[in-house]
Amino acid sequence: MRSFENSKKLYQEAVKLIPGGVNSPVRAFQAVGDFPIFVKEGNGSHIIDVDNNEYVDFICSWGPLILGHKPQAVTEALKEAINTGTTFGIPTEIENEMAKFICENVPSVEMVRMVSSGTEATMSALRLARAYTKRDKIVKFEGCYHGHADHLLIKAGSGALTLGVPSTPGVPESIANNTLNARYNDLISVEALFKQFPEQIAAVIVEPIAGNMGLVPPKAGFLTGLRELCTKYRALLIFDEVISGFRASIGGAQKLYGITPDLTCLGKIIGGGLPVGAYGGKKEIMSQVAPAGPVYQAGTLSGNPLAMAAGLALLNQLKDEEIYTKLERLTSLLALGLKQAADEAGVKVSINYLGSLLTVFFTESLVECYEQAQSSNTAQFKVFFQSMLEQGYYLPPSQFECWFVSAAHTEEDINNAVEAAKRAFQKVKEM
Ligand SMILES: *Cc1c(COP(=O)(O)O)cnc(C)c1O
Repeated sequence: MRSFENSKKLYQEAVKLIPGGVNSPVRAFQAVGDFPIFVKEGNGSHIIDVDNNEYVDFICSWGPLILGHKPQAVTEALKEAINTGTTFGIPTEIENEMAKFICENVPSVEMVRMVSSGTEATMSALRLARAYTKRDKIVKFEGCYHGHADHLLIKAGSGALTLGVPSTPGVPESIANNTLNARYNDLISVEALFKQFPEQIAAVIVEPIAGNMGLVPPKAGFLTGLRELCTKYRALLIFDEVISGFRASIGGAQKLYGITPDLTCLGKIIGGGLPVGAYGGKKEIMSQVAPAGPVYQAGTLSGNPLAMAAGLALLNQLKDEEIYTKLERLTSLLALGLKQAADEAGVKVSINYLGSLLTVFFTESLVECYEQAQSSNTAQFKVFFQSMLEQGYYLPPSQFECWFVSAAHTEEDINNAVEAAKRAFQKVKEM
């Protein structure tokens, strides 16, 4: 048995100082155990906790670490950048380089503004969309997460046509009323909203590959249909590619599926492990952002030289297409191995995987939307999670999150994880 005594002590201290003991709720172990483990170091695909337990890391900081922990190119770029200063609040050349990289690789982006988180990116993109269209309402999808800005923390009521109700205290109804919810992978639910509010919807914001209800890939025709509806009703289509950007392909999901959104939000990978976000799109729309235009948006640390250096160093590595081939190979190996292990143990699972993302849903149902994801047996997930943790595999501590495979993972990591999963599924079967 592993000891978690040091993590426990740190958690007992943290919980008195930090709400819930964590600086972001997804890190908490509420759904899977008593207290989170505290990590002290990462190397490649592995992490080591404060009790010296080692794990294969399947969250990779929830996305940024597509090459695993401490890729040499990023570490070196950071060391070099730090010698010239940490921040200026004055333009630097590397900001141009980052903008150029994004514009050259993300097909729909002609102009881009850097910010410091994904939340800032989506919040700013929506402000811009509202200003550009002179409309107030936005459409989002149940189960999609776009950061924690007020108007994006909204869940649907019972039907897709109900006006948004806040999913957290602190969001005024007056704001929630302008957020409409649709069902992921269901164009009819989107069209119904457009028919109800034909001239009031500023934008549809969507994760082109949904990663925040567990992984839910878009069904054939879904994204094309969204593009057509937005064009027809003169609303903007916003792709939130904070996860899928530079992950689904070097040009994100939009390149993979050949769809052109009006605005794109980025984050995670583009910061190379430092806090970064970005939003970009057509020049005509982006020119509305201050100081070129009237839509205000600013940031003391936006385009921070350390973050740009780390991000660019990582992005430059991704020009090697073999990385994506490798990620796909490892992830499908993992998905197929897990499915077989679950079948052998007689545990019902539905596994979604795409590129380097994967979720094992403990349900028989196909998972193509939030409602179906919710049919998962979270008690089974908890037993599976604990067994995997005990065996040295760090999975997202929630049924409704993606596993992230990195290029630092080896076939051995994957094969061993499948062997461990056989024992974990057995534990689930014996519940
Ligand atoms: C993580 C995430 C965000 C928020 O990014 P932060 O940097 O955590 O603010 C927004 N959209 C999606 C799709 C995300 O996965």
